[in-house]
Amino acid sequence: MPEVYGNTIDEQTRCIHYHSAEDIIAIKFKCCGKYYPCYRCHDDKEAHTVIPWETNQYDEYAILCGVCGREHTISEYKNTDRCLQCSSEFNAGCKLHHHIYFEENNNRKP
Ligand SMILES: [Zn+2]
Ligand SMILES: [Zn+2]
Ligand SMILES: [Zn+2]
Repeated sequence: MPEVYGNTIDEQTRCIHYHSAEDIIAIKFKCCGKYYPCYRCHDDKEAHTVIPWETNQYDEYAILCGVCGREHTISEYKNTDRCLQCSSEFNAGCKLHHHIYFEENNNRKP
């Protein structure tokens, strides 16, 4: 499994900020190329601000399932509510934070 940085509290990428049963993913940040459990972990450890993935980079592998270690592309992750390999459910509440990690389509020109 790739190394997960930040304030993890177990082997399934839960961290001191988000540690419910469903908090099992880590996200690779475009700005530093490291997996962190959440943006707060990132900001604790990094001096720079988060740069979100751009919409044309959604085929990058940037979401790690902490249960089985499968990496998901951003589009795979956005189109599922569970791991494509082990079927562990992902925390739906994470969607509230997607704009921090992934650039949304809103600004795309017609
Ligand atoms: Zn970074
Ligand atoms: Zn965290
Ligand atoms: Zn999995």
